[in-house]
Amino acid sequence: MIFCKDIYKSYENVAVLKGVNLEVEKGEIVAIVGPSGAGKTTLLQILGTLDKPNKKNNYKLKLNGSSAKELSDKQISEFRNKNIGFVFQFHQLLPEFTALENVCIPALINRKNKKEALKKAEELLDFLGLQDRKNHKPNELSGGEQQRVAVARALINDPAIILADEPSGNLDTEAAKKLHKLFFLLRDKFGQTFVLVTHNEELAAMADRKLTMIDGKIV
Ligand code: ADP
Repeated sequence: MIFCKDIYKSYENVAVLKGVNLEVEKGEIVAIVGPSGAGKTTLLQILGTLDKPNKKNNYKLKLNGSSAKELSDKQISEFRNKNIGFVFQFHQLLPEFTALENVCIPALINRKNKKEALKKAEELLDFLGLQDRKNHKPNELSGGEQQRVAVARALINDPAIILADEPSGNLDTEAAKKLHKLFFLLRDKFGQTFVLVTHNEELAAMADRKLTMIDGKIV
């Protein structure tokens, strides 16, 4: 589902990724751990096509059967919207919209009709136990609820791949546990592939595979 080889990334003269190779099977949950500054977020951004590796290193990056390198900038944003869902440490919900509206946004960008998008968003919010929170705005929700809304938003286009960067970094222990369980439930129900960057030992231990990144490499 994810295949990358020879991923190098430098910012100006600073090498952040120094040759990352990674293969993740469909339906697999991989956790990436490692000290701060090791390059985990940078790698996740590249796997999510939000950033590009250095060209000169002739890398490979295949996601859900497509070579990201071959896609134009316009194609890549469409590809990302359809195939990849993101969950960040800070939920990044839009404050002026309700939970339901926030969840719908990626579907509307994907040109789904509004009625269908609303129906799907409601189903997801129900599934995530947020049926009574649909019409609340983010600041009226707890941290755990906000994060579950963000998960629903990540799921609305049925992406094959979910990338999460410290998804429980901002949650208390109970809410974190609930969110972690949810990832596994989603994998079992929808067969999604997950790459999780986390400092949470419990989450890393639950994953199918735990990878450690140090100084720009997976060790
Ligand atoms: P981690 O997620 O493991 O903490 P990051 O991928 O966030 O590590 O960062 C790795 C290194 O790359 C850090 O030293 C960081 O300062 C640097 N870095 C990340 N993004 C940029 C950027 N856009 N410009 C310059 N340096 C960056």
